[in-house]
Amino acid sequence: MNEFVERSIAIGTSSPRASYDVVIIGGGGHGLAAAYYLATRHGITNVAVLERNTIGSGNSGRNTTVIRSNYGIPEAVAFYQRSIDLYEGLEVELGRAVMHRTKGLLWLAHSEATVRAERARAAINSELGAETHFVTPEEIRRICPQIDLDGGGSYPVHGASWHPHGATARHDRVVWGYAEGAIARGVHVHQGISVQGLTVRAGRVVGVETSAGPIGAGIVLSAVGGHVSTLMAMAGVRVPITTYRLQAAVTNHYSETLAPIVISSDLLVYVSQTPRGELLFGAEVDRAPTYSYRSDVEFLQACSLRAMTLLPFMRRLRVLRQWAGVCDMSPDYSPIMGATGVEGLLVTTGWGTWGFKGIPAGGEAIAELVATGVVPELIAPFGLGRFAADRTMADRGSAGTH
Ligand SMILES: Cc1cc2nc3c(=O)[nH]c(=O)nc-3n(C[C@H](O)[C@H](O)[C@H](O)COP(=O)(O)OP(=O)(O)OC[C@H]3O[C@@H](n4cnc5c(N)ncnc54)[C@H](O)[C@@H]3O)c2cc1C
Repeated sequence: MNEFVERSIAIGTSSPRASYDVVIIGGGGHGLAAAYYLATRHGITNVAVLERNTIGSGNSGRNTTVIRSNYGIPEAVAFYQRSIDLYEGLEVELGRAVMHRTKGLLWLAHSEATVRAERARAAINSELGAETHFVTPEEIRRICPQIDLDGGGSYPVHGASWHPHGATARHDRVVWGYAEGAIARGVHVHQGISVQGLTVRAGRVVGVETSAGPIGAGIVLSAVGGHVSTLMAMAGVRVPITTYRLQAAVTNHYSETLAPIVISSDLLVYVSQTPRGELLFGAEVDRAPTYSYRSDVEFLQACSLRAMTLLPFMRRLRVLRQWAGVCDMSPDYSPIMGATGVEGLLVTTGWGTWGFKGIPAGGEAIAELVATGVVPELIAPFGLGRFAADRTMADRGSAGTH
């Protein structure tokens, strides 16, 4: 056990102070990145991260680690492009091997309609600065020879959009890297402390009620993933979030290299290879809202069949594990960052099925907002107020499978 880990575990189990300048609820990637950038960019270290379970036990430790910036609207492309840039320098920034790998992302088209959609994606993204090209089946074969271009006879591949900056990183290392970096600068990360109430006086949040007693706070940031509706209701704030389950699975080791990330909207499936050689695959959220973390055999059957249709070699592999997370889906498929209407209470949510890639840019921007009180330009379009003002940021480029 290294010095950082020992220290963080000790801090995680020690009692919290009576109050902090900033209390961050939720020890996922977004909460921890905000704490890290508060400490490193703004010198604000009287900060506590309160995590009811263990850090990374929410979606930040359950995701399939796809990083990309080929979104559908200019504001989102700019935001995720900033995140890609931060991810590319994250190992140096944190001094930790987060296993970031740029491998490229192929978004396959199996019909005339999806050819048009992927051509449009390539054109829009290139125009907005997220390099993406339309590629032919011959080029796809060169990039990823394992893809069955006949699509099992039913899903012939007519082309794809190719996003060379698509990447992956090891999710728990990202979480721990941010946590250790914050802790090393004096931030308290408390695991096993659940926030059960928000104390609001005269329209201003002044603290939180926790399983370890009350804690005063100058500013409270909610970063609780799929549990945001419950938390915000404690302060009388309604957020337009519905929580849905998303599942994923991983196979045993594949001895060859699957170079890119492969996505198909027609087949509703995506596949990538982990640094250990396993194949990671997933699909879309369930149709009905739920807070259930149970994964099921229906998902596994349907999703593995679709994955094998594209990548027939996967028939020889065995599924090692499957799991689920609960995703905070916003009505316009864009994140929500910033003020809540209660003074001092900020929120980062709406990360849905796409929030791992947003961790560095989201944490950086929220830290700037906390430190300066000014909403950074990069996240200004993503405020909660956009729904009441009828300025939604509809982005069908958010989720990997549509
Ligand atoms: C199966 C799956 C695959 C995914 N794949 C991708 C992908 O490939 N690429 C991508 O970009 N995104 C992906 N995502 C989405 C991504 O994982 C999330 O959007 C992101 O991790 C959200 O981070 P977060 O910090 O907001 O939330 P979380 O990581 O969920 O952290 C929230 C934390 O808050 C804690 N908490 C909740 N309530 C309380 C409370 N009352 N008191 C204290 N603590 C509390 C929870 O325990 C949790 O640890 C995927 C998600 C899933 C489930």
